[in-house]
Amino acid sequence: MTTDSESTTPSNFIRNIIDEDLKTGKNNGQVVTRFPPEPNGFLHIGHAKSICLNFGLAADYEGRCHLRFDDTNPSKEEVAYVDSIMTDVRWLGFDWGANLYYTSDYFEKIYDAAVSLIKLGKAYVCDLTPEEMREYRGTLTEPGRESPQRNRPVEENLDIFQRMRDGEFADGACVLRAKIDMTSGNINMRDPIIYRVLRATHHRTGDKWCIYPMYDFAHSLSDAMESITHSICTLEFEDHRPLYDWILETLATSCHPQQIEFARLNLTYTVMSKRKLLQLVNDGHVSSWDDPRMPTISGFRRRGYTAKAIRTFCERIGVAKRDSMVDTALLEFSIREDLNELAPRALGVLRPLKVVIENYPEDQTEEFDALNHPGNPEIGTRKVPFARELYIERDDYMEDAPKKFFRMSEGREVRFRFAYLITCREAIKDANGEVVELRCTYDPETRGGSAPDGRKVKGTIHWVSASHAVDAEVRLYDRLFTVENPAGDKEQDFKELINPQSLTVLSNCKLEPSLAQAQVGDNYQFERMGYFCLDNVDSRPEQLVFNRTVTLRDTWAKMKGK
Ligand code: ATP
Ligand code: MG
Repeated sequence: MTTDSESTTPSNFIRNIIDEDLKTGKNNGQVVTRFPPEPNGFLHIGHAKSICLNFGLAADYEGRCHLRFDDTNPSKEEVAYVDSIMTDVRWLGFDWGANLYYTSDYFEKIYDAAVSLIKLGKAYVCDLTPEEMREYRGTLTEPGRESPQRNRPVEENLDIFQRMRDGEFADGACVLRAKIDMTSGNINMRDPIIYRVLRATHHRTGDKWCIYPMYDFAHSLSDAMESITHSICTLEFEDHRPLYDWILETLATSCHPQQIEFARLNLTYTVMSKRKLLQLVNDGHVSSWDDPRMPTISGFRRRGYTAKAIRTFCERIGVAKRDSMVDTALLEFSIREDLNELAPRALGVLRPLKVVIENYPEDQTEEFDALNHPGNPEIGTRKVPFARELYIERDDYMEDAPKKFFRMSEGREVRFRFAYLITCREAIKDANGEVVELRCTYDPETRGGSAPDGRKVKGTIHWVSASHAVDAEVRLYDRLFTVENPAGDKEQDFKELINPQSLTVLSNCKLEPSLAQAQVGDNYQFERMGYFCLDNVDSRPEQLVFNRTVTLRDTWAKMKGK
């Protein structure tokens, strides 16, 4: 089964806007977008949506997409985040070419723009404390009040702003504000702060600056400086658009990009804000940003999700103007669909139970040809060794099993995948009554798994040879949270909703020997057990660690109904 979802991009309202612009000759027929992450955390699947959208548009319209680090908040930003973001964007399959930018590279120009605003009488230094400022700002129903410094003369503003830069003022002592309209119905237009005093070492500019521009000011100017044509952002910036436009109009920049908002992606059973993800890391609820339970790109990569499946998912969910919650099951569906096609099959026993074939010679081993991919015979076969002692999945045996249990139980005959028909004779128990071994017999006439007399055997189970198996630890993952929208209730600490069963570590797994050759980045289907990959952090040649990427079917949907 193949999907060509990558080649047919459905239309959306942003494409319609661009098509119209191209028709009318706006922007000289150019399409220039940007992805502007703040380097204050790792990228998550929400960012992937924005990346696919911005880089995808640039590719489809033969334009370009810039990667711009929006690094105006030195107290929360780090070089490690910059590096991880570049790795993740590349891994997703996108390339910014020469178009790598940092807002911090524009600090001098942004400062000049602020000076220009002051000269135009459109910005002033305000001395109100943060509390006073909040009080003066007004509310949604009440207009704001003007700052006592609102009508400070231009010369005085220029002088104080220069001294702010020179370090004469303590952090928070004063700010530069745009002079717009304290009675505006849009609170963002009530003389917003555009510069603040902040002593923090910046990861690129060091201690050169002790004043930093605010997001709205820096962002609109950066877009204009880079000749962005379509500045695509999430819906919460809709109310900031008038400010974006005001800044560029007032300064009469030669380029005035169009800001377009779309709905951010929210996924069920997880949280998406970097602030919350950072709490999960800092409080030790997960091992790191790339913990396979995290909705981060690096977590998904480590878990075995493919870039292609993530891109397909982003395309499927589309671009809309209304916020919505996407079912995680849809993401997992895209992952399964890709892995089903791509992943070679293998045999792996996660919870081993020993099987001894009593009538199989002790010193004998034979090899069976196992198909690597049932839908794709060209991928060929591999050898799997068979011997007298094997392991099967503990769940594949049941004492006093019901009639419809087509697996191992005393007296029942079952097909061992690729090998023989095998009959369970007796279960050996330990002192606690726990089954520790099955004594079985095989029918030598059924090599390959079918009986010459045509008798039917319904069940087929997987197995590995005990002496040939490679040992591994396998980590199984479940939803990180127990409720669909853990961040939905502001009164409740989302961390209390963490699923205590989100990680299960199985330390005694037995895998077919070919898996000793598995490489980081390879995906496998362990037959009947799901899709798996080598853990890219903890796996060692002498102690393999596999992650379960996803189960074969949506077991979660079934469980929910119970
Ligand atoms: P968060 O709220 O997770 O901290 P952010 O918006 O602060 O995210 P930025 O680094 O500023 O993160 O985001 C970079 C780009 O990614 C922005 O254009 C932003 O609109 C977009 N983006 C962030 N989160 C999502 C999301 N959930 N869905 C779609 N786009 C998103
Ligand atoms: Mg942000």
